[in-house]
Amino acid sequence: MAYICNICNENYRNLVGVIEHQKMEHTKEETKYKCDKCKRGFATKEARNKHRNNVTN
Ligand SMILES: [Zn+2]
Ligand SMILES: [Zn+2]
Repeated sequence: MAYICNICNENYRNLVGVIEHQKMEHTKEETKYKCDKCKRGFATKEARNKHRNNVTN
């Protein structure tokens, strides 16, 4: 089971690793594409769309 950064698609072994990575590597300015359902931000429209596909049942 891998945890993947939704911004750059890097893999991490645990969720804390992803969170810490995003704090370090990705600033809020990089989250300009917002999901209107859960308010999460994404660096690219592609990443946002991919997330939207994942959350849509
Ligand atoms: Zn990342
Ligand atoms: Zn969402």
